[in-house]
Amino acid sequence: MARFDGKVGVITGAASGIGRAIAEQFAREGGHAVIADLDLDTAQATAREIGALGPEAFAVAMDVSDEARVQAGIDAVGAKFGRIDVLVSNAGIQIVHPVHEFPFAEWKRLLAIHLDGAFLTTRACLKYMYAQKSGAIVYIGSVHSKEASRLKSPYVTAKHGLIGLCKVVAKEGAEFGVRANVVCPGYVRTPLVNKQIPEQSKALGITEDAVIRTVMLRDTVDGEFTTVEDVAAAVLHFAGFPTNALTGQSLVVSHGWFMQ
Ligand code: NAD
Repeated sequence: MARFDGKVGVITGAASGIGRAIAEQFAREGGHAVIADLDLDTAQATAREIGALGPEAFAVAMDVSDEARVQAGIDAVGAKFGRIDVLVSNAGIQIVHPVHEFPFAEWKRLLAIHLDGAFLTTRACLKYMYAQKSGAIVYIGSVHSKEASRLKSPYVTAKHGLIGLCKVVAKEGAEFGVRANVVCPGYVRTPLVNKQIPEQSKALGITEDAVIRTVMLRDTVDGEFTTVEDVAAAVLHFAGFPTNALTGQSLVVSHGWFMQ
């Protein structure tokens, strides 16, 4: 029997990058992956490809920062499957500016997607998990949940904030059999990071190669990017842990950058 046989997992931002890899691995291990994303066309194409691996996958349109759309998306999952076993709160964006020039609207947009999004999806899924008396939530943090970076004030703030949210959900969820944990990746070559390289190059006045070597990979032990598969393996370790012992924790997956 596979680890997630018959389980239903909602993965936000799963049309691309890290979220897609998590959905794919979840499906390979028997679960119904729900691809919840702003980009419905890509989410539907992803669900078709992932559904071909075995268990039926499902795409829902969801802007995680919008209360009504989160509720509608989670209601659609409930109507289809009748249960939610796993939530991976993954959807995210990146915007870089120095603090003294950060546009307030951009600051608010980033916090809304990362923090409001994590809260709203958690709240909506807990209704199912509490009724079932079981569930696992995994937040995608970052090395920047632990450590600062120039140019990323709302991102660093939001990613630190997810650790606080996780700890509260772990405490409140325990009596209902719900666990919550955070995976904190180092740099992964996804569209989000590929977009950042030229932006950071311009903002810091260094070449793109220097951004990769001296900003992104400098503090790793081996100069390597983390992969989407590395992150998915850590997420599914948390999601599939067999007892309530593993909750309220954060795990850095970063080739040794930030050793706790
Ligand atoms: P990505 O850009 O490849 O994918 C992000 C996905 O989120 C996209 O499919 C996008 O459509 C979706 N999305 C964006 N805004 C949304 C919204 N409001 N509602 C629903 N979906 C939305 O990015 P990624 O690199 O895979 O990042 C995924 C997560 O991993 C993010 O939370 C990011 O902060 C985190 N992370 C990434 C890295 C990295 O190096 N790539 C490192 C650490 C943490």
